[in-house]
Amino acid sequence: MAKPRIGIYGLTGCAGDELVLLNCEDELLEIVAAVDLKSFVTAQSHPEECELDVAFVGGAVAQPHDREVLLDVRRRAGLLIAIGTCAVWGGVAGAKNDQDRAALKRLVYREAGYPESLPPQPLSAYVQVDFSLPGCPIEKKQLLYSLAALLHGDLPQRIGYPVCTECRIAENVCLLKERGLLCCGPLTQGGCGARCPSHNRPCAGCRGPVEEANVAAEYRILLEKGYGPEEIVRRLGTFARVPHLVELMEKEGKKHAQDIA
Ligand code: SF4
Ligand code: SF4
Ligand code: SF4
Repeated sequence: MAKPRIGIYGLTGCAGDELVLLNCEDELLEIVAAVDLKSFVTAQSHPEECELDVAFVGGAVAQPHDREVLLDVRRRAGLLIAIGTCAVWGGVAGAKNDQDRAALKRLVYREAGYPESLPPQPLSAYVQVDFSLPGCPIEKKQLLYSLAALLHGDLPQRIGYPVCTECRIAENVCLLKERGLLCCGPLTQGGCGARCPSHNRPCAGCRGPVEEANVAAEYRILLEKGYGPEEIVRRLGTFARVPHLVELMEKEGKKHAQDIA
């Protein structure tokens, strides 16, 4: 059987997700032997841009060049997999920044001039995404599991539980309930093994929202713990500005204010 033709691409981001693959030191040779790696600019000198069975794309679409690359890859790929929270949700590149964009560009790029940019968006704003691996960066275990599933002709299984599930399995003290810290675990997709709460740090939501997150319940708990709506929306929006979550939280905030009035 022919090996699946794979391409790995990075748009605007830090390339951390591609590095996770390169850091699979024990498994890397096996992976390279199992696939026909056509394009991986971060690690290859002579990529071959051809029809692909699977394309992995990291980073957000934040420049016209990103959009061109993405549309071209989508045309050539059977399956397109978004890797990393920038690609899945817009990530830190898409975090809300109220400062004047033109002024920021002048400050950063000065006389060198600045590249044309687009409002940072996830891949799904432009193309159909067949599967998403969130994380900042992605989890090595989830990447390997997904590669194995793809090699067997299956799509990987989605993680449908929040960070809290793994946090409870790890028997951590709940930082939200017991210490009143602003922890995004209940709304964030699991898969990281509750890394931050296990190190006594509240979850910052770097994996983006879990499906069917109980936004209303989390929001109310946070309000009761004394966090204001703006702070909560800002924290949850650091990695994923998901309009429906923000709208839902704002609605809950108003309801809560009416209830306590
Ligand atoms: S998701 Fe995180 S690791 Fe991946 S490109 Fe964005 S900032 Fe880098
Ligand atoms: S510490 Fe955070 S992730 Fe852990 S159970 Fe509490 S709210 Fe959930
Ligand atoms: S606990 Fe939260 S912030 Fe930490 S790695 Fe997991 S999802 Fe990311």
